[in-house]
Amino acid sequence: MADTILRGISATGGIRIFVAETTETVRRAQQIHKTYPIATAALGRLLTAGAMMGDMMKGENDRLTLRVAGDGPLGKLIVTSDSSGHVKGYVTNPLVELPSKAPGKLNVGAAVGQGTLSVVCDLGMKEPYSAQTDLVSGEIAEDITSYFATSEQVPSACALGVLVDTDGSVLNAGGFILQLMPEATDEDAILLEENIKKLPPITTLLSEGKSPEDILLTVTEGFDMFMYQNETKPEYLCDCTRERVCSALLGMGKEELRALIDEQGKAEVTCQFCDRIYNFSKEDLEELYARLTKK
Ligand SMILES: [Zn+2]
Repeated sequence: MADTILRGISATGGIRIFVAETTETVRRAQQIHKTYPIATAALGRLLTAGAMMGDMMKGENDRLTLRVAGDGPLGKLIVTSDSSGHVKGYVTNPLVELPSKAPGKLNVGAAVGQGTLSVVCDLGMKEPYSAQTDLVSGEIAEDITSYFATSEQVPSACALGVLVDTDGSVLNAGGFILQLMPEATDEDAILLEENIKKLPPITTLLSEGKSPEDILLTVTEGFDMFMYQNETKPEYLCDCTRERVCSALLGMGKEELRALIDEQGKAEVTCQFCDRIYNFSKEDLEELYARLTKK
């Protein structure tokens, strides 16, 4: 089944919710980066959040970057998304292994560690909007919730989940972001809190065959909800091009590039976000070097 994002808004306008199923997207990320389960879960959760937060943006060229920089063994996690559901990401150390918190409970928080979450929104204005918050637990969902509360002053609830099979493959992935709008009443907030308290983990709901619509209705039980499907589907998509890799090589500067030509005589550049490999022969590199020296 293709991945989806379902949006909902209550009849009073008091609450809005984004529910995502991102199994295929996270599966693709796992295949590209060959992540071990903890990295699969951490990156998959951030990709899921990125897809939903991208869906909150309006413009065709809007871009969002989420960066989790913790002091744990995973290193940095980077996810970028757009308003059309396209997401991509990577983690510094995909092969981390740590003992589980409880049976079947990956210790993502310990693998991420303490640090910061930064969010950069490029909405096509001169200056991209950016904000940084301290990580609460490194479990990603709580960190996203805290980001919305402190940086955007929007009371939110976020749940993210990735279920990894014993062979390391992705069984399912998804999440939701629920937000209280200014129209929300205290009663709304109390009711939602109760709903969320009794909600099983997202991966349990997905394992039971629940659809994003079922999940939305469960989370917002007691509310009159309008639902609408986004036209675009979440998808792991990398927009890298040879030209962009050339720019990166040029960005190394004259001396570094000369050293690369003299020492390696060629270059094989793997995209950080996908499994595409760009090969540069000595002639290609000399041509790039000539471009640098001409300036
Ligand atoms: Zn790529």
